[in-house]
Amino acid sequence: MTSNYVPSTCPHDCPSTCALEIERLDASTIGKVRGAKDNDYTQGVICAKVAAYRERVHHPDRLAHPLKRIGTKGEGKFAQITWDEALDEIVDKFQEATAEFGAESVWPYYFAGTMGLVQRDGINRLRNVFGYSRLEMTICTTLPWTGWVAGTGSMWGTDPREIAESDLIVVWGGNPVSTQVNVMTHIAKARKKRGAKLIVIDSYRTPTAETADTYIAIQPGTDGALACAMMHVLFDEGYADLEYLEKYTDNPTQLRQHLSSKTPAWASKITGIPEQDIYDFARTYGQTKKSFIRVGYGFARSRNGSASLHAVSCLPAITGAWQHKGGGALQSNSGIYTNIDQTLIMASDHEDTSIREMDMSRIGAVLTNEEKDLFGGPPVKAMLIQNMNPAEVAPDTHKVLKGLARDDLYTVVHEQFMTGTAKYADLVLPATMFLEHDDMYKGGGHIYLQVARKVIEPYAECRSNHDVLCALGQRLGSDHPGFHMSAWEMIDQTLKDTGLPGADEAADMRWLDFSKTYEDANYLKGFSHPDGKFRFSPDWAALGDKEGKMPKMPDHQEVIDAASEKHPFRLVTAPARRFLNSTFTAMPSSIAKEQRPKALVHPDVCREMELSEGDLIRLGNEQGSVVVHLQPFDGLQKGVVIVEGVWPNKSFVEGVGINVLTSADRGYPNGGAVFHDTAVWMKAA
Ligand code: SF4
Repeated sequence: MTSNYVPSTCPHDCPSTCALEIERLDASTIGKVRGAKDNDYTQGVICAKVAAYRERVHHPDRLAHPLKRIGTKGEGKFAQITWDEALDEIVDKFQEATAEFGAESVWPYYFAGTMGLVQRDGINRLRNVFGYSRLEMTICTTLPWTGWVAGTGSMWGTDPREIAESDLIVVWGGNPVSTQVNVMTHIAKARKKRGAKLIVIDSYRTPTAETADTYIAIQPGTDGALACAMMHVLFDEGYADLEYLEKYTDNPTQLRQHLSSKTPAWASKITGIPEQDIYDFARTYGQTKKSFIRVGYGFARSRNGSASLHAVSCLPAITGAWQHKGGGALQSNSGIYTNIDQTLIMASDHEDTSIREMDMSRIGAVLTNEEKDLFGGPPVKAMLIQNMNPAEVAPDTHKVLKGLARDDLYTVVHEQFMTGTAKYADLVLPATMFLEHDDMYKGGGHIYLQVARKVIEPYAECRSNHDVLCALGQRLGSDHPGFHMSAWEMIDQTLKDTGLPGADEAADMRWLDFSKTYEDANYLKGFSHPDGKFRFSPDWAALGDKEGKMPKMPDHQEVIDAASEKHPFRLVTAPARRFLNSTFTAMPSSIAKEQRPKALVHPDVCREMELSEGDLIRLGNEQGSVVVHLQPFDGLQKGVVIVEGVWPNKSFVEGVGINVLTSADRGYPNGGAVFHDTAVWMKAA
């Protein structure tokens, strides 16, 4: 690294957590951003949106000063105030709400706008110390992780660097070209060196599918059926590793009986995939010992997402692919970091689990006082929102906006830009970006923990999440040490509490290797259940299935918002390549690439409806309707509509975005947002 490049880590909500090198031009200015070549996961490759980060950090629209609302909620009219005025007001309002309605009337709300352990999770310290309402973190990982743990018992899988040693890579319900580019680096190696094949399963022909040897277009929410039919063929045609099954799995005999009716013909009707294609896929998978399934998040964002993900995770247990170097599967490696002791950051030792925990995906229902979502407690009267933009990202936008517009709700939004949520705030506080503060990061898609120092000074009056939380904690009178130390001191103490090198040493090391041994990562000493067996019959009750709604064996769980005469299309709100949820939507180069919100619809459907490219169409359901431009696209089944990206509400013709249509229903068995499980009607606008 030349002297004007300094190390950092990408903090965004992406499993790659790339090791970065930032060109520092002076104390407040950056130039180029590139990936670290000597990190063997990043390998010098990062996505285009982060490579252009100087556009974001030096964007003229960044929030620069604390602002107080002077217009109506949502209008976006604010006046500049001082930090002291802002912090004093927050403390007054939180104390007033606590005195009148109890501490549960304050609801700190956040998610993964940054993935740093200090700057993301520190808000829990404020919550736990002062007894505010808790947040059920359902918006992203609940459905996939529940499905994965159901079978394996823990949250890890084959080391992703082993993709390079695979002969067949299956990217199932993910689009790494757009969302986790480093996966493609490792796939490219396997293809170049070993002639490995890439098969992509998705509900539309994504940029990743474009590069595949085989792309299989599936109806959204039917992945469990495809996995079951594959297993049927694997057993039927002798590709099942019976010895492995006997040693490592719970009840293969019963599974085989259960699968006898789950034929490719059966699955074809459900998935819309030709029967022969299912046979071909199953045989290719069965014939390849070193097969690696990179299990994505997309297909799990459905009411049946956990069941579908569990079914897919059964595949390497049928063929015994786990036993072969380059074989197995990975959903997330989040479980390899569980020993990191975040007690200090989150004041977890103060957490009172008797305090209500409200579902973040149901923020609309919570803020509009739907009784069951309040769990018998008071209405939410005050909020601090960090790292999250629920007015645009959460499901059921109309309800979320109705809640945020309540006159009796006091909302503080700590943000980098004037988002759709910030416009509804009483106070908007300017937040630092990752280059302007210290933090540490776990790589869910790989095996490294990284500690990153700040690279440049904060812009204007921006303050970090940690600094704001400390200021509030102190003003509210807490002597918790976490409110009286710098972010760097907190990183240092946390690492030492975990038995790791301190902050300075860890930062100088650049990344700490948390990888498991090959045997452990691939469960060769047994799966993480007491009997060491992979569960074809999960204990769903232990995973939250109170009503017994989950299938006893891998299956297609028929609980989705299926297409009907009234709502003949299935809508998937997939990620856009140059956005990450609503982050990056202010960047000129991202907007130039993404252009405008558009609906991808099969050309035959466009012809039948006499619609052409660029026409305005209206998509709707019981929750409302959204107007977007039409883009004929032949890379999907006829009943599927794709709208990529979480564009800001203001980017849509009528000023409300795609999450007007997505449901806040809880996925099975234990909640989770169902963003890709939406039946809609469509007509010319
Ligand atoms: S690929 Fe993901 S982790 Fe890497 S730079 Fe892009 S957003 Fe960040």
